[in-house]
Amino acid sequence: MTLKHYIDGQWQQSDSQLSFVSINPATEQPIKEVAAGNKADIDKAVSAARNAFDNGPWPRLSGKERGAYLRKIAALINERLTELAKLEVADNGKPYPEAEWDIEDTAGCFEFYAGLAEKMDEQDEEIIELPEPRFTSKAVQEPVGVAGAIIPWNFPMLMAAWKVAPALAAGCTMVLKPSEVTPLTAIALAEIAQQADLPAGVLNIVTGTGPEAGQPLAEHPGVDKMAFTGSVPTGSKIMSMAANQVKNISLELGGKSPLIIFADTDIEQAVEWIMFGIFWNQGQVCSATSRVLVDESIYPQLMERLVAEAKKITIGEGNDDGVLLGPLVNQSQFEKVLAAIDKGQQEGATLAYGGGRPEHLRHGYYVEPTIFTDVSEDAWIWKEEIFGPVVCVKSFSSEEQAIALANNSRFGLAGAVMSKDLQRCDRVARALRAGIIWVNCSQPTFVEAPWGGYKQSGIGRELGQWGLNNYLETKQITSYDSGQPW
Ligand code: NAD
Repeated sequence: MTLKHYIDGQWQQSDSQLSFVSINPATEQPIKEVAAGNKADIDKAVSAARNAFDNGPWPRLSGKERGAYLRKIAALINERLTELAKLEVADNGKPYPEAEWDIEDTAGCFEFYAGLAEKMDEQDEEIIELPEPRFTSKAVQEPVGVAGAIIPWNFPMLMAAWKVAPALAAGCTMVLKPSEVTPLTAIALAEIAQQADLPAGVLNIVTGTGPEAGQPLAEHPGVDKMAFTGSVPTGSKIMSMAANQVKNISLELGGKSPLIIFADTDIEQAVEWIMFGIFWNQGQVCSATSRVLVDESIYPQLMERLVAEAKKITIGEGNDDGVLLGPLVNQSQFEKVLAAIDKGQQEGATLAYGGGRPEHLRHGYYVEPTIFTDVSEDAWIWKEEIFGPVVCVKSFSSEEQAIALANNSRFGLAGAVMSKDLQRCDRVARALRAGIIWVNCSQPTFVEAPWGGYKQSGIGRELGQWGLNNYLETKQITSYDSGQPW
């Protein structure tokens, strides 16, 4: 049975009747057939969202009422936690414990934005002090309207929540297009929305490829705001499409995030954070610790410990006990990562560990944890996002040099610094040109704190109050009260 689109509160077949197959990257076997959406399906979904926004109850409910729906969605996600985590393992390949975190965080994201929706009732308007006593002015916040969302495959359900939860909290209606590589948990989210009795048209989900379903959504004149997470080339296309209609956009794009390790850092701790930073989710993380900069005085010891620990990583199917590294998401990603590793070797970098498919695994898109050293600053593997379990390590001789190396990138999503000297950490954190900086850790992400990039890593911020603001317009209402007008 083909899984259908969820449009206007109903399950609908694709206009084209076409479908595509979702593949389990551990077995290379098909999991489900999924409806392949096109422009006609997007048109239907946008008109349902438009109607729900313009004529339906959703934007007119109180924040408390919208919050109650979001809390119900969170509770239903938690009820299906194990099943949803297993679905994520099958569709994406990640180890089960990581999938479970993702689903817990997905529910947590809906809970968090339920709280912010409730607060909107109290903070409905802000009075603005004017120098002119005959006038009063206030600023009110209103939902942007119909929001379109396009998301990637690395954290399928969580990336959906990062957009759906704040948009709905703000009072927007939404059309979501998940990645064609991992559509299954987004479809489960539609089932949950239906079970939570979310009014028809508030959340619509159309599955399909970027060019067939994503592009018509980004180009649609009925969409007031586009929220996109994915690669820089696609983000740039979305920006051009939105530009034609001067559409509000937010973009969360790629990264090549550095971790700077000073000589006074505990080497064991540093190794743990590097490993987590680059091997978590098979390195398919936008903020992955893909460039490591180590003080030259501890470089040999750190390299020895890093390689020793990387050798211990258990690679295998995400549901197997003790597995830390699953397969990459699909064949194309597998080939891209292997090609990048090849390129690194051709460029003259030293392969300190890994570099290929593990010999004992005959099926599945597995790549060993891979560590490069002696990487030149101009090397492709130092500059470009590989989006796999591949880390490049380089030494530095001064704080200034470390900062300069770290900042020499077209990306600016995240960065990290480790040292016992907290003043130094703060100095370096402020000097790094990136939107997220971790001190003495790497990767922990909290729904309360802003997330987004500098430079080509994106535009705008998700999460926290910043994430809600993405879906709000600010209106000025100024009144003439009394007295001589001019
Ligand atoms: P991608 O750009 O290939 O695809 C992302 C989404 O865009 C998919 O849903 C895809 O179908 C759609 N798409 C593709 N072409 C399109 C087009 N022409 N028009 C409209 N939509 C189109 O990215 P991906 O391979 O799915 O994800 C990996 C990328 O995402 C990496 O670069 C990673 O860094 C980035 N990412 C960033 C963040 C962040 O928060 N900054 C989070 C996760 C992933």
